[in-house]
Order: sequence, then structure tokens, then C-alpha cells
Amino acid sequence: MAEVLVYVDHVDGAVRKPTLELLTLARRIGEPVAVALGAGADATAAVLAEHGAVKVLTADAPEFTEYLVVPKVDALQAAYEAVSPAAVLVPSSAEGKEIAARLAVRIGSGIITDAVDLEAGDEGPVATQSAFAASFTTKSRVSKGTPVITVKPNSAPVEAAPAAGAVEALAVTFGALATGTKVTGRTPRESTGRPELTEAAIVVSGGRGVNGAENFGIIEELADSLGAAVGASRAAVDAGWYPHTNQVGQTGKSVSPQLYIASGISGAIQHRAGMQTSKTIVAINKDSEAPIFDLVDYGVVGDLFAVVPQLTEEIKARKG
Ligand code: FAD
Repeated sequence: MAEVLVYVDHVDGAVRKPTLELLTLARRIGEPVAVALGAGADATAAVLAEHGAVKVLTADAPEFTEYLVVPKVDALQAAYEAVSPAAVLVPSSAEGKEIAARLAVRIGSGIITDAVDLEAGDEGPVATQSAFAASFTTKSRVSKGTPVITVKPNSAPVEAAPAAGAVEALAVTFGALATGTKVTGRTPRESTGRPELTEAAIVVSGGRGVNGAENFGIIEELADSLGAAVGASRAAVDAGWYPHTNQVGQTGKSVSPQLYIASGISGAIQHRAGMQTSKTIVAINKDSEAPIFDLVDYGVVGDLFAVVPQLTEEIKARKG
């Protein structure tokens, strides 16, 4: 069976969920071989094996943390040359997309970014993407070289599929470009205790209708009752009510959760661009004509200051 390289996104050995989703998709097209780099790479092996990795190629070197993405591209290319895979899958994070693009150029392959599904095809893996603010779904495959595909978080379930996961050291030689862009400092993000926006299974977002930073508390309470991340429209971010890191949309983050709850958000095309691939969409808006109601699965016409707290109470009550 053909091998499929899976680039592992991890923090000090803790594998992030989108990588486990990639393993599910990789198993549809071949045998997953994971590539884990940097501090804690070896520690990723157990969980990767539980989710289907037949092999885990690991490498650690100061270059991975001291410089930006090029050392990781050098390592992924070394893995590509060692394995000759049928495809290379990378999580669709900002860093992942840069790594994938650079690898594709180096190996002369086509690339598909932001896939939301992946299946085996007669002539290679077929990726599903959503286009034009998710108005269309397209299926495509790479016709030149080895397909390099980045996949959005929440595109596949995490499945237990025990495999050998044998750890092998990957020999990496860094090229001249590897040390070209040095990291001069890192500022850890203040933890809110909530899941990362782009990876969360549930996102609760607030817009201009929330009417003030002080009112975002009710959005956060609903989010916390569901174990969700908090998002915001650009109008709410531009007003200074919520940080830009939480903005959903064309100039913010793209999310694709199981459940997206939009409160006081009109549903502008630029907002839709970042959330329309959500599996179930719920909107709370006092204007029954708001465009957001064109794309929802469930709509509540009402004042969010009455509806959201009731919803939170009900969820808390049902959880006991
Ligand atoms: P509004 O459009 O003002 O809607 C507020 C809604 O709240 C209304 O529908 C209203 O009926 C409802 N409401 C008010 N009070 C209540 C209440 N008490 N209870 C219930 N409902 C209530 N936008 C993004 O979100 N993300 C982006 O990344 C983004 N990028 C952009 C990029 C470009 C180049 C441009 C031009 C625009 C971009 N925008 C983006 C802005 C976008 O066009 C909209 O202006 C923005 O999404 C509107 O935000 P909103 O829905 O919160 O506000």
C-alpha cells in the first residue's frame, strides 16, 4: 500500500487535533507516515500510532525553533525523499500552508489548499474545497507530481486505528536558506481556557448587535456552557469590543466547526467567508430579514440579550 506523509502539528509533544484528523483522511488513501519535528517530537509517537501512523519520522534541532519555516521544509523534503509518498498532507494553519507551498515548489508538484474532505481516486487523491465564500463546492486532484494537500481543521473525525508507529530518526541537512529568518522573540498568548478558535468543535460568535465590550460576557458564558471558542465579527473587532485574534471572516480566521452560533451578526459575505463551511449554523438576530437567516440551519428571531442568557441557562440545566 502506498505511504502518505502527514506533517504533525504539535506543541512540545502534544499533538493537535487537526493532525489526528489528517491521519483519518490519510488512511483513506494509503498508510500514514507521520513527520514530527522539534522539541518533543519523539513524545508524539504513541498518540500518532493510536490513530493509524505506521511510522513516525522524527527530527529535533535548534533550527526548528530559532528560525521560521524553512528548516521544517528542509525536514519535510528529507522525509519526502526518504519515503516517496503517494501524497503529503499538512494541516491548513498559516504555518502549515507556507510549509506545504514551499515543499510543492521544491518538488515540482501541484498543491491544493484548504481542503475540507479527501477521498481516494483512480488517478490520485481527490480533495473537496469550498469556493467563493462557500457558495460552491469543488472537487479537484493534483495532476503534476506528488499531491501536496492542506486540510482545514474539523474536516474529518478523529478515529482510533492502532498501528505500529515505529519511531525512526530522520536525517536532515539544512540548506543555506534555513537560517535566513531568525525568530527574535515569542509572546505566549494569554490562555482563556477555551479551545483554539480554528480547531474548536463549537464556536459562539458575537457581532455589532452585542453592542459593547462589556456585553461580550453573555457570549462567553454561552461559549463556556458548551465548551466552545468565542468568535467575533469585524464590526465587533473594529469597535474594540473583542480581540482581532478572534475575528471570523475574510480578513479574520476561517472556522469550520460542528456548530456555529452567530449572535447579533447580519451575515455579510465577508463574515460568511470564514464560517459558511460550519456543519450546523444557528443565528440569533432581532431582524427577521437579516441575510444570515439565508444560510442557517436554525434561526431565532429575537433580542440576543433575552435569548442568549436563556439558552445558556437551559444548557447548564440540561448538563446538571
Ligand atoms: P452588522 O452588519 O451591523 O449587523 C449587526 C446585526 O445585529 C444586525 O443584523 C442586527 O439586526 C443585529 N442586532 C442588533 N441588535 C441586536 C439584538 N439586541 N439582538 C439580536 N440581534 C441584534 N466582517 C467580518 O465579520 N469578518 C471579516 O473578516 C470581514 N472582512 C472584511 C473585509 C473587507 C475587505 C470588507 C470590505 C469587509 C469585511 N468585513 C468583515 C465586514 C463586513 O462587510 C460587515 O461589515 C461585518 O461583518 C458586519 O458585522 P456585524 O454583522 O457584526 O454587524
